[in-house]
Amino acid sequence: MPALPCPAYNKRVSTNILNADLHCHSVISDGTLTPEVLAARAKANGVELWALTDHDEIGGQHRAMAAAQAFQLPYLTGTEISITFAGKTVHIVGLGFDADNTDMVQGLRSTRGGRGERAQEMSDGLAKVGIRDAYQGALKYAGNPELISRTHFARFLVETGVCQDTSEVFRRYLTEGKPGFVPHRWASLKDAVGWIVNAHGVAVIAHPGRYGFTANEEYALFTEFKAHGGRAVEVVTGSHTPDEYVKYADMAQEFDLAASRGSDFHSPDESRIDLGALPWLPGQLTPVWDLLAERIQ
Ligand code: AMP
Ligand code: MN
Ligand code: MN
Ligand code: MN
Repeated sequence: MPALPCPAYNKRVSTNILNADLHCHSVISDGTLTPEVLAARAKANGVELWALTDHDEIGGQHRAMAAAQAFQLPYLTGTEISITFAGKTVHIVGLGFDADNTDMVQGLRSTRGGRGERAQEMSDGLAKVGIRDAYQGALKYAGNPELISRTHFARFLVETGVCQDTSEVFRRYLTEGKPGFVPHRWASLKDAVGWIVNAHGVAVIAHPGRYGFTANEEYALFTEFKAHGGRAVEVVTGSHTPDEYVKYADMAQEFDLAASRGSDFHSPDESRIDLGALPWLPGQLTPVWDLLAERIQ
């Protein structure tokens, strides 16, 4: 794929003022739009640098890249890898890696393994509280059965009127201690960062405000992430409050990490923040795209 220049990037005095959206999902994981429709939506919303970051899967990268190129929308490859850290599921975003890297493709395949069995167990848990056939119901929503996720169960429970919206489903059924929650052992932090770095990409801690870690656990996450070669953290994301923008801007500086910006858009009906609709990255931070200028296509 020939490299495209990123005109908006080259023109700006401060590269922080760039409408980059480096986190979203398509039907290849748990989003509801195709990569092509997402590219069109990103372009229409004024996004100037885009990455599609499907969960644990890079099978949509060539489609996303081709669609972005058709719209002259500068693109970085992306993914969001599920890992287990301190007993919780944490997400690591990878950006600007080689989409054909075999170790990464195989590593992601191994981390996807087990989602099917977990989904069956989730369905058994839901059956115990009177919700029947949830596995089949969720599967209908999964564009890619290998990536069946809690989001697909949430859509099924909204469809059948058990809950009003997906947040209510997560609150009542799909989080720790609730009937449809099944803990799962994902990849390790070291593996996920290693796959990304070895494929010439940059690893980013996704939405750190979401994990409910203690200060000590969070410190350990940032420290180990850096030790494994991680270089950035999401500061401005659809999953953070304005107070969290400030908190993680400070942590980015404390840990000498670059900062990323991404909506985490999944669906026009479910997502709070649309593609390209976030505040700018705080001026004192190094944007992650400064580390990736040569990887923009
Ligand atoms: P899984 O990988 O199967 O554990 O599913 C995780 C996905 O569920 C995340 O990527 C989000 O898209 C979604 N999710 C997690 N927590 C919530 C929540 N509280 N409300 C809505 N969606 C959520
Ligand atoms: Mn998701
Ligand atoms: Mn996530
Ligand atoms: Mn995400």
